[in-house]
Amino acid sequence: MSSKILIIEDEEKIARFVELELGYEGYTPTKAFDGRTGLELAETGEFDLVLLDVMLPQLSGMEVLRRIRRTSSVPIIMLTARDSVVDKVSGLDSGASDYITKPFAIEELLARIRTALRKTRQEDMVVLSASGLLLDTGRHTVTMLGTPIDLTKREFDLLHYLLINKGMVVSREALLENVWGFDFTGETNAVDVYVRFLRGKIDEVFNLKLIHTVRGVGYVIKDEK
Ligand code: CA
Repeated sequence: MSSKILIIEDEEKIARFVELELGYEGYTPTKAFDGRTGLELAETGEFDLVLLDVMLPQLSGMEVLRRIRRTSSVPIIMLTARDSVVDKVSGLDSGASDYITKPFAIEELLARIRTALRKTRQEDMVVLSASGLLLDTGRHTVTMLGTPIDLTKREFDLLHYLLINKGMVVSREALLENVWGFDFTGETNAVDVYVRFLRGKIDEVFNLKLIHTVRGVGYVIKDEK
């Protein structure tokens, strides 16, 4: 699906030019010519990225930036008219992802947009692995060398926690706390039961030894030697 980009820029010629170029590149652009309208649009949460001019009527770019940041982590690229160090620093301090100085070459703006969009995608999606086992938090899938493994939510969360701590021994208490939650009041051997389920679906099916027991301590997931 094409990324939706909000252009908040009062110089209509620049806004139209950028809109046209973004359209050619396959993005879906929307324009706003003042800070207030831009903020209202940004607050709908419909946009994947915001291009935000610093000098705007009604609400300044900095103010729009601060207000968007109260509720949203959408990538924001500031357009600064002057090569102002102050604007750049306060923009980045207030949570701008990047800035570009006007006049800019459209190719440079497009490159900055691609980088900012790629970064958010990577943050959303973490792939953890051990010896051919891949856990994708974005897609919520687990595969072994491409073969899907069907896990329950608890099994997935347990595997996720073990993989985050790959190579480190995790105690039963830490697993109960982080996978089941502080208020868990069920059987204390729940961890052992679920580790057995995971081994059944992974180690046994694929003839591996990824999940190890450290007697008296807990569990550790390791790459196969
Ligand atoms: Ca302006």
